[in-house]
Amino acid sequence: MPFSVFTWRKKAMEPLKLMSILHSESKCKSYFKQIREGKGVTCRRCGGLEHYWKSDRSVYECKGCGSRQSLRSGTVMGNSKLPYRYWLTAIYHMGTGKKAVSAPYLQRILRHNRYEPIWYMMQKVRMLMGKSGSGFLLQGGIESDGASLYVQGTKDLTRDGKEQRAKAKILFSVEAEPAGPRTKYKINKKIGKLKMAVLANFSAKEVENAIKCQISKDASVTTDGHKSFHGMEEWVREHKWDVVSYPESTAFKHLPVVHIMIGNFKNMMRGIYHSCKKCYVQNYADEFCYKFNRRYSQPYIANTLSNDCMSNTWY
Ligand SMILES: [Zn+2]
Repeated sequence: MPFSVFTWRKKAMEPLKLMSILHSESKCKSYFKQIREGKGVTCRRCGGLEHYWKSDRSVYECKGCGSRQSLRSGTVMGNSKLPYRYWLTAIYHMGTGKKAVSAPYLQRILRHNRYEPIWYMMQKVRMLMGKSGSGFLLQGGIESDGASLYVQGTKDLTRDGKEQRAKAKILFSVEAEPAGPRTKYKINKKIGKLKMAVLANFSAKEVENAIKCQISKDASVTTDGHKSFHGMEEWVREHKWDVVSYPESTAFKHLPVVHIMIGNFKNMMRGIYHSCKKCYVQNYADEFCYKFNRRYSQPYIANTLSNDCMSNTWY
């Protein structure tokens, strides 16, 4: 039976069907080519939209000026020499599974000798998730809270000048609207989308900048009593806060959803990646948010991601 792929806009490819082309470089290449042509190829010199496909060199040649560009040109794969099937395999495994996958796992199933190119490719896919999954603001009722994650790197100094393990400071904001009476589940809130930002510290200025990038002005935000949240009334419509004391575990009652998010993210980092440097935490946070925000269309995350992968606006 001849191989055929559906364009993303008409019908996304079923996960099993997508998996069945991962072994073949030519099928993966034609899959990416079909997505790119669905989006339209634009000449970078004259802006022409008509191109010849030179299959021997895998380049598009402009019918107007003769300028050439490769299939990867301008996309996230632009400077990579890794085969297309590596990229599609990474996208498939990172997108389809509910849990995250590690670089050694992908290295094993690709049977690639070196670890670094696979790790770097996965970081680029995470950056792509961050770039294509962040163009919205959170609306309605929102829970916000900060969390610290132990990371590799030089030790931080406390206020007393003592050394302590390096930590990444992360601000979590999640849509959580009260919904109906209490059910058999502990949380009677309707959970929406999640955003995470890695901050240099939890100062009021840093928190203000992050909140303005994450949350719509007409939202109603619930936080704990941290002093960095004190000016929030000026940035959003409503700010509800309460001092939570952890020994009595009122934190879970006051901010139930955001604490589940914090727990799940920390478990992912500890369980799968073990640790990372502070500068890469935002990439892992973007991956976590991208998959969480698309949890109702989980089987098609790989399709969405490969579609985003062929956008020629990477640089
Ligand atoms: Zn041209």
